[in-house]
Amino acid sequence: MALGEFELIDRYFRRPVRRAALGVGDDCALLQPRAGMQLAVSTDLLVEGRHFLSTVAPARLGHKALAVNLSDLAACGAEPLAFTLALSMPAVREDFLAPFAQGLLALADANGIELVGGDTTAGPLSIAITVFGEVPPGQALLRSGARVGDELWLSGTLGDARLALEAFRGQVQLSGEGFEQARRAMELPQPRVALGLALRGIASAAIDLSDGLLGDLGHVLRRSGCGATLYFDALPRSALLAAQPLALQRTCLLTGGDDYELLLAAPAARHDHMLAAANQTGVALTCVGRVEDAAQGLRVLDASGQALNLQGLAAFDHFR
Ligand code: ADP
Ligand code: MG
Repeated sequence: MALGEFELIDRYFRRPVRRAALGVGDDCALLQPRAGMQLAVSTDLLVEGRHFLSTVAPARLGHKALAVNLSDLAACGAEPLAFTLALSMPAVREDFLAPFAQGLLALADANGIELVGGDTTAGPLSIAITVFGEVPPGQALLRSGARVGDELWLSGTLGDARLALEAFRGQVQLSGEGFEQARRAMELPQPRVALGLALRGIASAAIDLSDGLLGDLGHVLRRSGCGATLYFDALPRSALLAAQPLALQRTCLLTGGDDYELLLAAPAARHDHMLAAANQTGVALTCVGRVEDAAQGLRVLDASGQALNLQGLAAFDHFR
């Protein structure tokens, strides 16, 4: 007989609490942030067919659902504390639930964040996670902190997740190995939590890249009242992406989406601090541009200093 709602919660989602005062099983969870800390809270909803393809392995889906939320904590420089999981699924399938919970909870353990509650219902497959983190007052990294003269930095590499999407859509052909690499980038993003923590007090602004570089940088610039110049050739990309036609590289790097890397601004005087934080956390940071006066707008220069035409390179928007 299929598991009931409460049995499945007990079997897959209830574990002994560590830092929380009360976890799964009552009407509310109870959290005890450390004295004087602010709570950083963020929610992301993943819907089948919108945010993930039905072909994704359940363990990877569990990983990604939490990873995209941890990425928001990373962008704020917050330390992960606890999360809740609201899950709707068409039927109780243990061959889905077991690997899903395993992928989810493995990433949770790796980041010291615990599952303290949620909700479970029948319906189309969708996963809503709310994360709670801690940050000392005044130290959260914000979108609004960029200043003229700051350098712009990116963690990791961009564009492989979009490359995988293009391959799934049949728009590009990749070798078996290339496809697996791109697919891993799309399905197993690595939230940059340690880097976000290391950059408190160093970076002036941050955002995580979920909707594409141009759009997400645009959010930082609007909130900060600035413009920017990006150097296209400096944008960090995998050897796999670098081997693709230039037009495809542009699409993947500038509007890709689903990267979950951090975009940061930092005063030029802190250049070496940025490199030291990269070194300390083992995550590459690449300087890709600078913050300019708002009147400058946003421009992307090629190797010869020519501005790229950005027409048609819009950011992802669910309602457009
Ligand atoms: P209520 O009806 O009071 O909202 P539920 O019966 O929905 O509570 O859930 C029972 C308990 O199980 C609660 O503590 C809730 O937080 C927890 N829970 C429900 N679904 C999940 C889930 N997917 N993951 C973790 N905890 C869950
Ligand atoms: Mg409920």
